[in-house]
Amino acid sequence: AKVSDHIRQANGKTIFSIEVIPPIKGDNLKNLLDNIEPLMEFKPPFIDVTYHREEYIERPEPDGTIKKIITRKRPGTVGICSAILHKFGVDPVPHVLCGGFTKEETEDFLIDLHYLGIDNVLVLRGDPAKPFSTFKPKANGYSYASELVAQVTNMNRGIYLHEGENAMAPSNFCIGVAAYPEKHFEAIDHDTDFKYLKLKVENGADYIVTQMFFDNRKYFDFVKRCRQEGITVPIIPGLKPLSTRKQLQVLPRLFHLEMPPDFVKAVEVCENDTQARQVGIEWCVQQCRELTQAGAPGLHFYTMGKSDNIVKIAREIF
Ligand code: FAD
Repeated sequence: AKVSDHIRQANGKTIFSIEVIPPIKGDNLKNLLDNIEPLMEFKPPFIDVTYHREEYIERPEPDGTIKKIITRKRPGTVGICSAILHKFGVDPVPHVLCGGFTKEETEDFLIDLHYLGIDNVLVLRGDPAKPFSTFKPKANGYSYASELVAQVTNMNRGIYLHEGENAMAPSNFCIGVAAYPEKHFEAIDHDTDFKYLKLKVENGADYIVTQMFFDNRKYFDFVKRCRQEGITVPIIPGLKPLSTRKQLQVLPRLFHLEMPPDFVKAVEVCENDTQARQVGIEWCVQQCRELTQAGAPGLHFYTMGKSDNIVKIAREIF
């Protein structure tokens, strides 16, 4: 079923959902599935699976030369989606990227998902391919998520890039997109960011998932502004419980967000990561309580490979 239907059927009750990341190339899938298992207690109606674009790596060769290779460090998104569907009977939400794909490759990818019985996609531009610092689309690929949203919407109407001899049946994807309560780092200002977020919704996005935040005010202000701008789709808050002291610096740098001063103080007095992890759980529980009371359609947890802390949080909320 579609994420939008799950939200509708919840009838105002806040939904629990998670995001998982494919293992590093060559690692076993078992760890990932074992990590998801305890979260089934909270009956997530959907699970997101991230997609990772290619990276350019310079590898020293035995003869002393440097070889430039393109590698994809975390392949397997589609296979993991299929495993989630079959093992848990939960709707997978594969992430679909502009970066690294031509329009035709994207179309073929979406046809695979459609044939697998996957009803949902989260459409993203993707970050710049490492080691580059600016995003560059592949030749005949898309520069912005809004363009890829339009392609999926077209497919949902039975319009494909190239009409074959036999017309393809329309797909029926529910489309999610990302947004940033603290602004996307490349956007010059909030106004511009909202303009392009609105375009994603106009092009067919059914709902929004936010980047993580640690200050609920950012989410509430963001939702308010969206409504003022005429963006009416559900906005699911994304949450990540802090789990190490180092993340106090790492998360703001990676995800361009601010840590609230009270939270910083509480983590700074921790003597070790076990204590910091506990503070992270307690802070996240407070966030979740407030978000649930305010009627957030869901709480979407970024697991980043670990689930024990999310189990503890979910037990307090659901
Ligand atoms: P867009 O919506 O395309 O926006 C990118 C930037 O361009 C913004 O600054 C926007 O304001 C600007 N912009 C948009 N349209 C235009 C236009 N027409 N003209 C000029 N400027 C424009 N990354 C991955 O690689 N894999 C994942 O699985 C993944 N999952 C994610 C899940 C969530 C919930 C979130 C929040 C992020 C995820 N990301 C993932 C990261 C994401 O790819 C990056 O944040 C990326 O930099 C932006 O993606 P976007 O889809 O929001 O881009």
